[in-house]
Amino acid sequence: MKYRYWCGECGYKTPWADEPAGRLAQLRHYARWHAGVVPGGHRERRHRWSDVGQGCLVLLCLALLLLAALVLAWLSGH
Ligand SMILES: [Zn+2]
Repeated sequence: MKYRYWCGECGYKTPWADEPAGRLAQLRHYARWHAGVVPGGHRERRHRWSDVGQGCLVLLCLALLLLAALVLAWLSGH
């Protein structure tokens, strides 16, 4: 997951980054351009499809392992 922070005071938005890095970039922007203003704006979220793909692969592997375990248990039981 990647995040982008939008400035609440001007049209600035941080580059896509991990959450801590994005928040830091927003804080730096506020410190430089809006000193004394409480950071506002909003956060935009983006899926990284590679992450989603890896998640699916892990689930698939787990399902296969479970299936193999079930088959082995069934075979040893008979
Ligand atoms: Zn700004």
